[in-house]
Amino acid sequence: MPEVVVIGGGPAGLSATLNLARALVDVVLVDASRPRNSATLRSHGFLTRDGIRPTELRTLAKAELAAYENVEHLERRPVTSVRPSADGFDIEVAGRAPGEQRILSAKTVLLTTGLTETLPALPSIRSYYGMSVFSCVACDAWDLRGRPLALIGETADLARRAVHLARWTSDLTVFTNGTPAVDEAEEPALAALGIRVERTRISDLDGERGTVRAVLLEDGRSVPIDGGFIRPEWHVASDFLDGLSPQRSDDGFLVTDDGGRTSVPGLYAAGDIVVPGPQQMIIAAGAGARTAATIVDDLQTAHVTPLRLTELT
Ligand SMILES: Cc1cc2nc3c(=O)[nH]c(=O)nc-3n(C[C@H](O)[C@H](O)[C@H](O)COP(=O)(O)OP(=O)(O)OC[C@H]3O[C@@H](n4cnc5c(N)ncnc54)[C@H](O)[C@@H]3O)c2cc1C
Repeated sequence: MPEVVVIGGGPAGLSATLNLARALVDVVLVDASRPRNSATLRSHGFLTRDGIRPTELRTLAKAELAAYENVEHLERRPVTSVRPSADGFDIEVAGRAPGEQRILSAKTVLLTTGLTETLPALPSIRSYYGMSVFSCVACDAWDLRGRPLALIGETADLARRAVHLARWTSDLTVFTNGTPAVDEAEEPALAALGIRVERTRISDLDGERGTVRAVLLEDGRSVPIDGGFIRPEWHVASDFLDGLSPQRSDDGFLVTDDGGRTSVPGLYAAGDIVVPGPQQMIIAAGAGARTAATIVDDLQTAHVTPLRLTELT
């Protein structure tokens, strides 16, 4: 029986697993192997790995984990259920073929399953997403700096995101796609920064070979752009938590303490699924490492007062 099962093999789960392995913890990493950032060719902002392909980062991390005998890494194996048991948790892992399903038991489970996202419902959006239309401003705005850009979204934070994005371009149009995402009070503030607001519904994007060239509006107009950002809606997929209801924020993210402990004893979480912050790989990897440190200490000090996070070195 492993001491810890880590569910999700993105930067958070891989980093947590590495640090657990080095603390001599028997750990199983279970990954559905469907990374959200697979839409993009290059990832930016990860120290020493700026511009790396997302798949390559995972390959490097997997090679590092392979050196540790106390790690078992199950790939392309989604967890279909995590249930409380008398001794911790039972974790049901789907097989790649019928009959390969496995049930793991562990006292400690770390969730690093990341987010799923709903993109604005534009017919061609997938042709451009990750190539010339992105969601992470911190990750990708540098490559689009100084160009005519679009920001497309339907949520109440759109105006604040536009102000943020205006750091990288002075030619920005915010598209609300017919929704009241930008309110009347926000529009003059955006105008003062030179940011245009277009409220007409969008029919589609236009361009070629992944390079977006225009936003097409339902009234027949075409607004030329040379790149853009969308504001997806993010979801924490947790339908596999069976009989477990860790505390969540109003928008559905898991709530943890500073060490990654959820409200369910023995259940930890790290990375994008945790209340909120910049969604970046290095931050997810750091959160994975920090949560691994908490888990190691909790395993070690189950019956005494644990060290505070600031005391862990
Ligand atoms: C298009 C795009 C471009 C991006 N570009 C950048 C960039 O340039 N730089 C940057 O720093 N960040 C970038 N990001 C953000 C970055 O990818 C995330 O912040 C980061 O990957 C989050 O790491 P994570 O480990 O929390 O989750 P993820 O990387 O999402 O990993 C979660 C893993 O859990 C697995 N999983 C989910 N459910 C289950 C289950 N039931 N059982 C088993 N496994 C499961 C998934 O298949 C996946 O492998 C980008 C994101 C997107 C969408």
